[in-house]
Amino acid sequence: MIILKYICQKCGTCCHEIPGESVKRIPLYPDEANILIDIAKKRNVDFKIIEDLVFPDIKNQKILVVTYRIRLDNETKGCPFYNKENGCTVHEIKPFACQAYPLALKRVDAFTFQIDIDPLCNFVIANYDELKNADINMLQEIFKDEYPKAEKFFRKNKKLMFKIRKLEAENKIKISRQISIEDFNKALKEWEREEIKVGKSKD
Ligand code: SF4
Ligand code: SF4
Repeated sequence: MIILKYICQKCGTCCHEIPGESVKRIPLYPDEANILIDIAKKRNVDFKIIEDLVFPDIKNQKILVVTYRIRLDNETKGCPFYNKENGCTVHEIKPFACQAYPLALKRVDAFTFQIDIDPLCNFVIANYDELKNADINMLQEIFKDEYPKAEKFFRKNKKLMFKIRKLEAENKIKISRQISIEDFNKALKEWEREEIKVGKSKD
């Protein structure tokens, strides 16, 4: 049996909003965001981010920020580091989410994520019938370079979730599981921010 091999079509779709789809998320951790902000300043690139994965800490009235996402509400509707001729212009230091793509982390519940395929990638769309029932072993074969990166992404995310749960177990924070949309929006407007970080993952 011939196993499918992932070949990026270099269409740039994953670096842009997709008309008709819900918000395109290109998540990045605070440390990744800082690196890209510095590069954007040096290159005079209009790079903006917005909070993405956040948890409301009702004990300290703080919003805990785990990830941001790249703002795409600009003229090109894309990541400002994308260039039509050359593709990603920060390839060497692009965020985990971009390194692992079209593999992504899918949220299963509040603190649990799993490695999944993003159905919006054009390679995935073109090969959907073969990919839809692929198990982990097959994904590792098909996405030979991307799967290890997705695993690093997954491990970092897991450490961050563990850190939040540990802080909660130590009674230093209390994450609300049942906050109403109205209260959450109010908290987003009024509460201070605290970024949640873990040390650099070398594994
Ligand atoms: S960092 Fe690079 S790969 Fe990631 S969205 Fe921007 S241009 Fe695309
Ligand atoms: S959408 Fe998929 S095929 Fe197109 S550039 Fe992104 S990863 Fe490559």
